[in-house]
Amino acid sequence: MTIHILPDDLAAKIAAGEVIERPASVVKELIDNAIDAGAREIKVEIRGGGPRFIRVADDGSGIPASEVETAFARHATSKLHSVDDLFAITTLGFRGEALPSIAAVSRVTLVTRARGEESGTQLRVDGGKIIEQRAQGAPQGTIITVEDLFRHVPARLKFLKTPATEAGHIADLINAYAIAYPQIRFSLVNDDRLAFQSPGTGKMFDALVKVFGIEVAHQMIQVSSAMASSEAANDSASFRSGRLAMTNAVQVTGFISPPSLNRATRKYMLFFVNHRWVQDRTIQHAVIEAYHTALMVGRAPIVALDLLLPPDAVDVNVHPTKSQVRFRDSSAVFNAVQRTVRAALTGNAPIPSIGITQPPSWQREPISPAQTQSALNLYRPTLSNETTIQPPGDQTTRLPAAQIPMLRVLGQIASTYIIAEGPDGLYLIDQHAAHERVLYEQLSAERAGAQVAVQELLDPAPLQLTPAQFAALEANRAALASVGFGIEPFGGQTFLLRTVPAVLKASDPRAALVAIVDEMEQGEEPLEKSADARLMTSVCKSIAVKGGQVLSLEEMRELVRRLEQTAAPRTCPHGRPTMIQLNVATLEREFGRK
Ligand code: ADP
Ligand code: MG
Repeated sequence: MTIHILPDDLAAKIAAGEVIERPASVVKELIDNAIDAGAREIKVEIRGGGPRFIRVADDGSGIPASEVETAFARHATSKLHSVDDLFAITTLGFRGEALPSIAAVSRVTLVTRARGEESGTQLRVDGGKIIEQRAQGAPQGTIITVEDLFRHVPARLKFLKTPATEAGHIADLINAYAIAYPQIRFSLVNDDRLAFQSPGTGKMFDALVKVFGIEVAHQMIQVSSAMASSEAANDSASFRSGRLAMTNAVQVTGFISPPSLNRATRKYMLFFVNHRWVQDRTIQHAVIEAYHTALMVGRAPIVALDLLLPPDAVDVNVHPTKSQVRFRDSSAVFNAVQRTVRAALTGNAPIPSIGITQPPSWQREPISPAQTQSALNLYRPTLSNETTIQPPGDQTTRLPAAQIPMLRVLGQIASTYIIAEGPDGLYLIDQHAAHERVLYEQLSAERAGAQVAVQELLDPAPLQLTPAQFAALEANRAALASVGFGIEPFGGQTFLLRTVPAVLKASDPRAALVAIVDEMEQGEEPLEKSADARLMTSVCKSIAVKGGQVLSLEEMRELVRRLEQTAAPRTCPHGRPTMIQLNVATLEREFGRK
């Protein structure tokens, strides 16, 4: 085989393959161009899931007649002039690849009229070749129609999924853009049916309502790095290392779901960097870390976060699709995101209330960052809807919002739930979940101090295990030792249990250990939990008091008192609620007193 240079049209198709993977890639590139052109309204229409027909119409600046042909040349762009510009990119496009790539693998018709020009232009391109250009009347803006996508690239056509799946990708894309650009009115017409329309009010909250529905949107918590930065100022270590300046240069705004509102997929974790929709593991990891144990294993939050940072602090020229970025200081980004999300979560984790059909008034309106502060004091005890107790030195009003008030234990229901009274009504506490939380924090604190209190067993207990349990125990021996389970091999399939964590009060420590091993072995696949977090949740789940166990009043008081002292009393380490609340206002309404 001799070496030869590929013909232009083949080279163009290869290059196109990097930019245009599926119909949604076409829509993305065309929307990017429309946004760069200053569009206020972007209408997308598709047929047959996209491969047959995609049309994107915008009311942006349009393309001057004299430049229409050039726009389809490879590496033709109006957005970049020099290498230096690469590090100061403020537009979504800059590589000059989208239009030629789309044109190389489909049939394109462009109709455009530039601002200030009398008449518009129509240009038709087929498989990369210009077929016709002529003057045509048109509204200001650009309408691009893409038909028979990949007709000339049958191999690619085979990789496409069903029309419904491809249309789904396009809908997801438009949803994400509607959230990132709330000031733009987006619409999607799928096979002649209006599938989506964003309000274009300029408020991210309004876009969230459209995308996720009003119920979900109302539960979302608004975040803003302004909220978290006072904490950052106290962080002298990061100040000394000079990192603070960079962390503060990253502004994080958006909405996150409370831990109780979650999904089985990470698809609803949307991240934007300078309004560019990106897939980014650093940001994703920072968010998951911020939720920490508040999130149930295998679940992901709903998140829409926009990171604003100086253009030269982020490299967007990483991949032809521009959906990945590289940060100059990724740990600063990680810290800023984690801190912001964490601050919002610890301030807002609400106790689920029974019987409240209307969301509280603060949730009905999007909260501006300036108002967020007041949302943090939500859990001030209230006597009724109207009266708020706020005497100046009142202790309860000073509690951080994540805390719970002092509770008076009244009794137990179904040997599973503790009934307690607080200043604002009735609390039902799940004894197992509450105990898990208490144990989790106690063990964590002991381990952080490298001092896990252990208890020697008077009679070292032999453990006979199945081969699977044996393997699981063997693999986790060091980890278990770190939480206080001292285990030694005793020949064959047998281990000897010598010490247990002091927090373990069970009468049969061996059964507890076997339960932990089983839990570790068959536990649901965690999302991004470290092996350590997994171990801790298994241990706490296995040794916590179970539902169905009768507790004395004394034991219940002790448990509730210790729960009050934890840092996150409202959720168990898996993220389930530890308590629900029936406040006085609800009682009064239910009894018809109001
Ligand atoms: P890039 O966006 O990277 O510059 P494209 O191939 O996507 O490259 O577009 C080439 C050029 O065509 C753009 O730089 C822009 O000047 C022009 N253009 C494309 N789409 C539009 C549009 N919808 N409105 C106005 N100008 C457009
Ligand atoms: Mg472009």
